[in-house]
Amino acid sequence: MKYNKNIFTVDKCKLNKVVKKFETPIFCYSEKKITENIINFRNNFKSFSPVICFSTKSNCNLEILKLIKRNGLGADVVSKGELMIALKAGINSKKIVFSGVGKTRSELIYAIEKNILLINSESKSEILEIESIAKSKNKKVDIGIRLNPNTDAKTLKQISTGKKENKFGINEKTFIEVLEYIKSSKFLNLKCLSVHIGSQILDHKPYQKMLNVLQKLIKKIDYNFEYIDLGGGMGIDYNKDNKKFNYKKYNQMIKKFLKKNKTKIIFEPGRSIIGDTAILISKVIYIKENSKKDFIIVDAAMNDLMRPALYGAKHRIVPLKKTNKKTKKTYDFVGPICETTDKFLTTNKFQKLNEKDYIIICDVGAYGSSLSSNYNIRPKPAEILIRGSKINVIKKRQKLKDII
Ligand SMILES: *Cc1c(COP(=O)(O)O)cnc(C)c1O
Repeated sequence: MKYNKNIFTVDKCKLNKVVKKFETPIFCYSEKKITENIINFRNNFKSFSPVICFSTKSNCNLEILKLIKRNGLGADVVSKGELMIALKAGINSKKIVFSGVGKTRSELIYAIEKNILLINSESKSEILEIESIAKSKNKKVDIGIRLNPNTDAKTLKQISTGKKENKFGINEKTFIEVLEYIKSSKFLNLKCLSVHIGSQILDHKPYQKMLNVLQKLIKKIDYNFEYIDLGGGMGIDYNKDNKKFNYKKYNQMIKKFLKKNKTKIIFEPGRSIIGDTAILISKVIYIKENSKKDFIIVDAAMNDLMRPALYGAKHRIVPLKKTNKKTKKTYDFVGPICETTDKFLTTNKFQKLNEKDYIIICDVGAYGSSLSSNYNIRPKPAEILIRGSKINVIKKRQKLKDII
């Protein structure tokens, strides 16, 4: 994704072509970038060939999931709906893990019927529920237990999941209790120890702490896990300030861990696979001048891209068409929704914009379309996938008549 003769270009497709043909806002993905990210992710850990289960909640577009499947990944799902769409994308059930703190009985029944790789359980009560379903089907069910390692991921507090005050996982004491119970169960097969400490993690040190916690526990309980599921969370460079996650160090840490433990590694990456593969194109509706900064009111809003409103996340914004004019402005990019938090970014030194210009909101592939809603009865945007210079519509823009 770069400028070609001052026009923002995805692979070989200049985006002025897209806005001539489609309404905005519109999500636009690069097939090449998705494939590259998967290859790179795999190469980072090739010495131990991990099972890579793409986190479906980060992006659940069926065509994207099919593409991910073609590139050999499995899926990490957190609901029956996600499990259904992963299967529909053709992902083998033996490459699917099911996480989440509140899986209902009917969701668990469905997962057990589909013979997925693992149900990663997050509470004692849930383990008992799985056992009762397994018993009723006279089946032995493969499970993992998600440990809460009480590790600070040093990320936004809203997306931190591995501290003891977070709702996720089981603490060490309970873990040891349920382990004894499971060992004597005829219907449960504990295959995996799992963790996931948070998202958009850029510092590798929390992962070292997490591995230390796992090592200590494994030593204490003296149990052989067929799998250790390390979750996802690896961050991406949203600000283009070169703060990058150090995969080399993470790989070394895991290799060291594997010298002491003979086990297979599972990863559940979402953002690191899909985050920087898409942009959201939006059109300036009005410009409202203000004393210090002008409001750029665009046709995308928090319902299309929720992360800024939800977490205070920042996504870079760039013009679709670069001009060489010298004037630089301070702008507040806002959407039309009746909420003060419906604001994408305040930025200075932006080129002067005019009404009807187009802007690009960057790195929206993860938790972009999957978190979108119909708030204010706004239809969800179309999604397109670019391959070379070809545009494939992978989701049509919702029609108002279908949501009213
Ligand atoms: C959300 C989630 C992931 C993916 O996290 P990313 O930061 O997108 O890599 C993986 N595992 C679990 C259990 C999750 O809830």
